[in-house]
Amino acid sequence: MDREAIIGLEVHAQLLTESKIFCSCSTTFGADPNSHACPVCTGLPGALPVVNQRVVEFAIKMGLATHCTIARKSLFARKNYFYPDLPKGYQISQYEMPLAENGYVEILANGETKRIGILRVHMEEDAGKLIHQEESMETSPFSFVDFNRTGVPLIEIVSAPDIRTAREAGAYLRTLSSILQYLEICDGKMEEGSLRCDANVSVRPVGEEAFGNRTELKNMNSYRHVEKALDYEIRRQTELLEAGDPVVQETRLWDPNRSITVSMRGKEEAPDYRYFPDPDLIPLVIDDEWIEGIRKSLPELPMEKRSRFVREYQIPEYDAGVLTSSKALADFYEACVKIFPEPKTVSNWVMGELLGTLNSDGKEITESPVTPAQLAGMLQLVKDGTISGKIAKTVFEGMYKTGKDAARIVKEKGLVQVTDQGSIEGAIERVLEANPDLIEAYRKGKEKLFGYFVGQVMKETRGKANPQLVNQLLKQKLAGRR
Ligand SMILES: [Zn+2]
Repeated sequence: MDREAIIGLEVHAQLLTESKIFCSCSTTFGADPNSHACPVCTGLPGALPVVNQRVVEFAIKMGLATHCTIARKSLFARKNYFYPDLPKGYQISQYEMPLAENGYVEILANGETKRIGILRVHMEEDAGKLIHQEESMETSPFSFVDFNRTGVPLIEIVSAPDIRTAREAGAYLRTLSSILQYLEICDGKMEEGSLRCDANVSVRPVGEEAFGNRTELKNMNSYRHVEKALDYEIRRQTELLEAGDPVVQETRLWDPNRSITVSMRGKEEAPDYRYFPDPDLIPLVIDDEWIEGIRKSLPELPMEKRSRFVREYQIPEYDAGVLTSSKALADFYEACVKIFPEPKTVSNWVMGELLGTLNSDGKEITESPVTPAQLAGMLQLVKDGTISGKIAKTVFEGMYKTGKDAARIVKEKGLVQVTDQGSIEGAIERVLEANPDLIEAYRKGKEKLFGYFVGQVMKETRGKANPQLVNQLLKQKLAGRR
């Protein structure tokens, strides 16, 4: 029986405001424990929350960017549960009447655009942090609590159950992250916890309408972990169903060390949280003028930029997708094309050598030692024949390591391409004289040997000979000897 997975993601994004959502405490990371805490965020009796306008503005931005309808009136609600890092005994969130609903984002999956529905975008406060003396709370004789993160603003973005594979989930997450970064409302880094993801997953026979029992997956701290955890969980559920066993509705933790999910607890349902409107906060009413003002201020978003790159630079959809995955990368690319207007060549180098080297170095595009102008300068040297495409890779490595311009590296290392006919002919002569048997074989029809001769001539000139000239002269020589 063919089965398919039904996946929905709940993503929490930490907003880049300077102060917390309901008080004026700083959100700066890394301060001394409990130095950013006040009566409001620690829930002292009588302290009253006041909404941070910037948080609402950022949340509206995300709502608009994901094509949601922004509610003219929304409510803050109390989500009640007990945990030591939650001093009030409840989290202020939104439940009924969230800020934004019914939108979508488009992702690239298997080379095609797929639309993933957004059920809602709502605002809420973060909880504090427990620091256990031992590795886990169970074995620690005591634990510390740091309220600096309590009340840091979050938006929760809930997708429709439109995702079918782990790959799609990864693509969706990366898309959300890039939208948040383009909007400059969240740095979008999963590894650092500013973007967090829980996944609901179930498996059903293809063609069936009803959903199977679902599990909720937690503790996935990177895109890779999300994909691996989903793959594992889909396989686990499929095996259970095939054996005729039920899937238990529960919350499961991803264990990255063992690459499995383990049962954590029965899944809470909304009634467990006893949601009710927070009586300390009046309904949030937003006028059209504010929404339209924010709409007009939105930057060009990843999807729009991607289409424009395809249109304007005539590069493949795939290239445009990679290049617009972050605003900084798109800016780098455009700056380079502006100086060296051969878009596909620039795209190849940015996606190939540049991203490859940065990646293996653990660096981001913003930390690239090679500037757009330097990359453009090097491509110009290839174009005007000063260096060969092969030598360009050596020059690029030099630029990356030293931060020097291509022209200087070429000069210092004597990498100028040999275009002088005489010296190339000399090299060809030497190669042919050393291989009389192979010339014989070539003449008898072993034409593949031509590539070997080219390789030998390039070796003879230490890679510096102009390849077109080598080809041309070699053909002439071989014909002449026939
Ligand atoms: Zn505070």
